[in-house]
Amino acid sequence: MRLVLMGPPGAGKGTQAQFLASYLSVPKISTGDIFRMHVTRGTELGHEARRYMDAGDLVPDEVTIAMVKERLDEDDTRDGFLFDGFPRNVAQAEIFGDMLAAMHTPLSVVLELVVDDDEVVRRLSGRRTCSECAHVWHMLFDPPSVEGICDHCSGKLFQRDDDREETIRHRLEVYADQTAPLVGYYATSGLLEGIDATGPVEDVTARAVASLRHWGQ
Ligand code: ADP
Ligand code: AMP
Repeated sequence: MRLVLMGPPGAGKGTQAQFLASYLSVPKISTGDIFRMHVTRGTELGHEARRYMDAGDLVPDEVTIAMVKERLDEDDTRDGFLFDGFPRNVAQAEIFGDMLAAMHTPLSVVLELVVDDDEVVRRLSGRRTCSECAHVWHMLFDPPSVEGICDHCSGKLFQRDDDREETIRHRLEVYADQTAPLVGYYATSGLLEGIDATGPVEDVTARAVASLRHWGQ
């Protein structure tokens, strides 16, 4: 199964990816997580990506594509993958399509998580991420048992720099301008499946799994 999860920032892609990747037994590949890992490690790539991420802009395509290519060369992607946050514009989608065609491994489905802007702002403003395992929590909607500590690995939780209110608004504009056109792009190729991403996490997961079953998984 080669799956792309799309939807605005805060739609719940990372949250659902955690469950769906294990359900499908494929690796979850979050370009945002990989960029953040480079920022934390202080690599050259992290240094370059950081100024775009902090501003809520997309990291340039050539940088993102090179990173994705490298990730797809790893053995664990041979039997499938789940991308979260990539592709983010039509240019990335076209190059990604060419890469997969060259490997004779086309995408199976693109799952779009549909949720409105007000809910996105509520979700992003309470988001907390584990500094060790990158698990995503929410202060109100999905709190850990001990405040500020990850239930899974006891890592410390942090608030992302780009989850400040002004940056959230800009990221939503970037989504509308650059990423939303992918809905039409993938609908035209018959790969798009939209699901209602409102309501409890488990309900969204159940809808996603029902959709995937419909696609033969
Ligand atoms: P994305 O990866 O699309 O940016 P996340 O998965 O990080 O979004 O989710 C954003 C925030 O919303 C997180 O704090 C997460 O715990 C919370 N969240 C995710 N799904 C739901 C849901 N169905 N209901 C309420 N909160 C949710
Ligand atoms: P995310 O964790 O998916 O919300 O991504 C956080 C930030 O990383 C984004 O706001 C971008 O700056 C950058 N990023 C992640 N994925 C991509 C991508 N596919 N193309 C460009 N920038 C990206």
